[in-house]
Amino acid sequence: MNMTPLSSITYNRVSPTCLCTHWNLLPVKELIEVFRPDITVDQVEKAACCTKCGAKGVIRTQIIYVGNSAIAMSTAHTPRKNVDE
Ligand SMILES: [Zn+2]
Repeated sequence: MNMTPLSSITYNRVSPTCLCTHWNLLPVKELIEVFRPDITVDQVEKAACCTKCGAKGVIRTQIIYVGNSAIAMSTAHTPRKNVDE
């Protein structure tokens, strides 16, 4: 059971795994477009259908948090201007 609403993990990805071990990596943004922002990870799990065997029944869903390394890099940067002054 994962009651995390997709709207709180918009920029991440979810990886549902089927009983047949087939798994997928889906951008949350795309799922919100298909479903709605307040749908939970649990509800997506129930609605999901395996693209390989066609089974309805995800055994496990992992939330893949996309690192914001780009933001970390920009804040770590010290402008030269400060050194010169
Ligand atoms: Zn499957």
